Amino acid sequence: MTAVKEIDHAHRSHALLGASGAHKWLNCTPSARLEEQFPDTTSEYAKEGTLAHEIAELKLRKYFIEPMSSRTYNTRMNKFKRDEHYDDEMDKHTDTYLEYLKELSMSRPNAPFVTIEQRMDYSDYAPGGFGTADCIMIEGDTLFLNDFKYGKGVPVSAENNPQMMLYALGALKKYGILYPIEQVHLAIIQPRLDNISEWVFRREDLVIWGKNLVKPKAALADAGEGEFVPGDHCRFCRAKAQCRAYAGQFTALQDFGAPVKKPALLTDEEIGKVINIGQHLDNWIKAVKEYALSQCLAGNEIPGWKAVEGRGSRNYVDQDKAFAYLTEHGIDENILYDRVPLTVPKVEKLLKKKQYDELLVVPGLVEKTQGKPTLAPAKDKRQAITSATQDFS
Ligand code: SF4
Repeated sequence: MTAVKEIDHAHRSHALLGASGAHKWLNCTPSARLEEQFPDTTSEYAKEGTLAHEIAELKLRKYFIEPMSSRTYNTRMNKFKRDEHYDDEMDKHTDTYLEYLKELSMSRPNAPFVTIEQRMDYSDYAPGGFGTADCIMIEGDTLFLNDFKYGKGVPVSAENNPQMMLYALGALKKYGILYPIEQVHLAIIQPRLDNISEWVFRREDLVIWGKNLVKPKAALADAGEGEFVPGDHCRFCRAKAQCRAYAGQFTALQDFGAPVKKPALLTDEEIGKVINIGQHLDNWIKAVKEYALSQCLAGNEIPGWKAVEGRGSRNYVDQDKAFAYLTEHGIDENILYDRVPLTVPKVEKLLKKKQYDELLVVPGLVEKTQGKPTLAPAKDKRQAITSATQDFS
């Protein structure tokens, strides 16, 4: 086991060809250089994720690397708890991550080598490429790369995950001489979505991927060359508000043509295409509007648009004082508050899992109703249904 300095998660440096953006620059090679001209802003979600990673790191460090007294641990935890982005759920989800890793290490015939928050250098494949791997274990001939994801937008799959595969290339470089690594086990633990995704593949295939795919694409990306290829990866691209190629996929809706040349009604194939394009439309328009607003505020002209003051909202100067004054003047306190019952998911969040099961599930006080049919992408893991297979009455 190794002792290393704790990482400053909020100020990690980023490589041009960073692992977390690999999905983007491997698919659209000119994006890396194009993005350079846009500021790298941090969202509230990212700050929340950073804090969750810091808490996870503390827990892993305590269990695997440097046993610490309860006092030291509590002092460090309390510092995190004072952060405005902290909530109790974070404690629960980082525990889930720790439990997964504990089970993984205990399931191995020998105690694995464990290291956390290590910088992985994969610059042999991508110029200047490095990133920080959350937790690496090595036991026998297997390299285990574990990644904690705090997002709850979409479940992330470990299969062919370029971010983790790049870390694996870095880990091979760092530990491949010391350990007889023959296979790689990737795991993504995303507790807020109940998602644990695992994928195992051979060292040999990883190296082939690195040489045949990453190396040439990374060389193009480093030079800012290649084709602009829009796709799902544009979601996190800093250039998306102004990117011509990204905009092009939305205006491509016109390609369906005039009724004279083509049938008046769209075919089912075209309908599928419309939904594919349209699912990113909201996100794109939002990014474009944000960009246009920043231009107007900077005094630049966006033809047909201007910045104005939005609607303000009314707030109590001091709510307690205002309510006290109202009740003193004969207003019934009860009408000043809404008493709203908590939903099942909110109560579940408040209680411990065991308590929730004992108090609500076992006595039969909660029921699960059948979900309404909904449209999902073909790659969604849920089984496809039809009116013939399901009774929706
Ligand atoms: S928005 Fe998409 S197509 Fe445009 S540069 Fe970024 S990743 Fe490439």
